[in-house]
Amino acid sequence: MRRRNGAGSRQLVDATDKFRKSQLQLIDILVEEKLITRREASTLSGQVERAAAQKRSSDVLSTALTVNRKVMRVLKQESFAEVARQDSELEILFEVSRMIQTTLDKEDVYRRLLELIQQAIPFDDGTLFLWDKQKTRLTPVATRGKHVDLIDGVHFDHGTGFSGWVAKQKRPVLLTELHRGRRADDTVVGSFMSVPLVVQGELIGVMNLSDGKPKSFTEDHLRLLSLIAGQAAATIQRLLLYDEMRRLAITDDLTSIYNRRHFLERLQSEIDRARRYTIDFSVLFIDIDNFKELNDSYGHQIGDRILAELATILKHWARSSDIVARYGGEEFVVLLPMTDKPRAGRAAERLRTRVQRHTFYRRKKLTVSVGVASFPSDGETIEQILGRVDEALYMAKKTGRNRACSFGDPLPLAKVA
Ligand code: GH3
Ligand code: MG
Ligand code: MG
Repeated sequence: MRRRNGAGSRQLVDATDKFRKSQLQLIDILVEEKLITRREASTLSGQVERAAAQKRSSDVLSTALTVNRKVMRVLKQESFAEVARQDSELEILFEVSRMIQTTLDKEDVYRRLLELIQQAIPFDDGTLFLWDKQKTRLTPVATRGKHVDLIDGVHFDHGTGFSGWVAKQKRPVLLTELHRGRRADDTVVGSFMSVPLVVQGELIGVMNLSDGKPKSFTEDHLRLLSLIAGQAAATIQRLLLYDEMRRLAITDDLTSIYNRRHFLERLQSEIDRARRYTIDFSVLFIDIDNFKELNDSYGHQIGDRILAELATILKHWARSSDIVARYGGEEFVVLLPMTDKPRAGRAAERLRTRVQRHTFYRRKKLTVSVGVASFPSDGETIEQILGRVDEALYMAKKTGRNRACSFGDPLPLAKVA
């Protein structure tokens, strides 16, 4: 008992005083934030003062508990929760718009979007689908967790599962009490939410969220997800339009292969690359033989069809690293990266044979002449290389057509079987 008046007691007095001050401060904050009334505040302060005066730790602790309970109740209050929720909604919407303005890589945007949503709406599995206009179906472009779409045994047209239904109705769906147990793929779906991504009435995609537990999602979650979906839809559409514009700018209308402008750009980058790493590359210049005759006899429309067909043959014949382009009229070019002149010559001859053997639209037969030139042996600039490959083509035409010629080589390339 003597220790009560010793050092231990002094420490207790100090601690009690600190406790008293911090509790009174906390009560002041609650009043300032209008979370409790002045009356409640004065009752609580009275309790704190009394407990501190008694200097009994059990009293002190029990007042601490009372204040704590009050704080907890206040924090749980509707109005407070509402403010917090609105704050986090604004925050996430702001984040979505910021992310969208700073990211240009589509895959990044899709992935980040699901990541951000998960911060505001906890879910087990989420998938973002985009509407594929050509294939007229929904295609998943990003998934967090597992990919969940179908609710067992329920199918809809217009894509699959609930997302298909959502896509068609362009209305959100909230299912909070699914008790279907384990699905075939081992995922348990207790709650499911699906919202369409729509811009001015046009469907861009669908977003699906699911959770293992029932009642994980509320109407508020659905509302927030719809808000985010609206914002995301506009951005995704912009990204897709940007891609489409870029694609059109480098594509030849008639044949759907690259146009001359894109070929020249790629040729310049290949020159830069080949210089840096001292590697070879080659260019083939392909011109249809007597194409004017075919046009004159059968009409321009059939001529156009055949041009497109030849482009397809070139595309299939080429390796994926080759750049195949329509240079203009009935002339095509192929850039063969990392290919020296002898290999390019053999490739040209194989291509010539392939065309000769092909039967085109309306049983038409065609031949082509091919010129070959290589970097760096025939030139080191775009102008030099194109000049040389054109000369090689001229040589092929002059010596009888339906042949491939390498620049600087007076004889046509040996025919390969
Ligand atoms: P060669 O190359 O063997 O010397 O004879 P050619 O008849 O192919 O050559 P020329 O350069 O004299 O004529 C090319 C013809 O290609 C002219 C035109 O009728 C046809 N042509 C060019 N561009 C197009 C096109 O976009 N569509 C169609 N249908 N024909 C085209
Ligand atoms: Mg021509
Ligand atoms: Mg021609």
